[in-house]
Amino acid sequence: MVNQLVVNLVNSVLGPGKPTARGNQAHTCPFCHHHKQKLEINFDENATYYQKWHCWVCDKKGSKLLSLFKAMDAPQDKINELRSLVGATRQIIIDSNASKVELPKEFKPYYWKTRSKLFKEARYF
Ligand SMILES: [Zn+2]
Repeated sequence: MVNQLVVNLVNSVLGPGKPTARGNQAHTCPFCHHHKQKLEINFDENATYYQKWHCWVCDKKGSKLLSLFKAMDAPQDKINELRSLVGATRQIIIDSNASKVELPKEFKPYYWKTRSKLFKEARYF
């Protein structure tokens, strides 16, 4: 599943991208500014390469969107928003009054581990 909230955020920082295949989207590279959209980012939360980004022209790449935002000097509020969307601390909205709970800092979510079969099964347990 493509995380549309993350797509919207990235679009607001990099400019609108163009969906390609398998949850990827192509953007104008903020490093080499190639005239074609050569920076590919994966937005599929269930994909192994979720959040991976790679420019096919200048070969800049990373495994997390946070490193992209930092490398391109994105505004701090965008970085904070990204953290809240993909960061280790997940916010869960429990009711329509929008009270939020956060997991304790020492909590290690399973998605930090490798995406082995066991973890996939645990996820749907
Ligand atoms: Zn580039």
